[in-house]
Amino acid sequence: MLSAFFNINLRGSDLSALSPALRDLADRSIEQLRSAVAVYGSVCYANSLGSESMVLTDLIWGVVPEIEIFTVDTGRLFPESYALIDEIQQRYGRAMRVYYPEAATLEEWVAAHGINGFRDGLEERRTCCGIRKLEPFRRAIAGRRAWVTGIRHTQSASRALAAPVEWDAVYGLHKISPLLDWSEQDIWDYIRTLSLPYNRLHDAGFPSIGCAPCTRAVQAGDDERSGRWWWERADSRECGLHPRRKLKPAIRESAAPPAAPPGGAEAPAKRAESRDTP
Ligand code: SF4
Repeated sequence: MLSAFFNINLRGSDLSALSPALRDLADRSIEQLRSAVAVYGSVCYANSLGSESMVLTDLIWGVVPEIEIFTVDTGRLFPESYALIDEIQQRYGRAMRVYYPEAATLEEWVAAHGINGFRDGLEERRTCCGIRKLEPFRRAIAGRRAWVTGIRHTQSASRALAAPVEWDAVYGLHKISPLLDWSEQDIWDYIRTLSLPYNRLHDAGFPSIGCAPCTRAVQAGDDERSGRWWWERADSRECGLHPRRKLKPAIRESAAPPAAPPGGAEAPAKRAESRDTP
């Protein structure tokens, strides 16, 4: 059986290569992942193909392989994202499951609204995200008791309020966030030290990576959301997987610490923090 073959060839990274501080962070994240499996049993991780996803994929497949990793192919991803899916498979000798939109629904919607109908208005855009992302995501987490996310405290004021384990009332399962205490620099140090594959769009100014027609590079200092659905108002730029929290007025967006990316190009973190949002 193919999956059995892949499991036998599971290749985890050598975490002893990490600095003591990074190893400590990794150990705490591993502990949270193991605890989630012990408590909830059936746990999954939605790989967004961004930088945090590379760390979580390495920790999960290297140390806590009971957690199923999946990704959603909306049909409109960048070529770099498809290349990364293949790179990940080559590195770890196993494939993450890919979920696709329900074909008949998508065909009907495109027939009615056009191939780029999501540009016609907020409702159309949210409907497209619902068909291409949320419906496959709901299918992927069906029957699970917890899902893992790569959100971090320094990503935004909203995410600064996140807890390691939360009840996700929208999807009806627990939400585990083992990277909350990691900085952008920690993420890239981990990727660099262990020579992990990563999405090459990060080298080209994309701190947040989603569908190709709805994501663009941002300038240094810009909010990363400015590269997602840029034709919309800033407060609507979410696909629905991580609804925005209501914030107290005193809490402000945190500044992103700069970090050098692998490959020598301009640091994605110099532009803004990346987010683990599919
Ligand atoms: Fe559709 Fe754009 Fe949402 Fe992708 S990001 S699902 S193309 S609206």
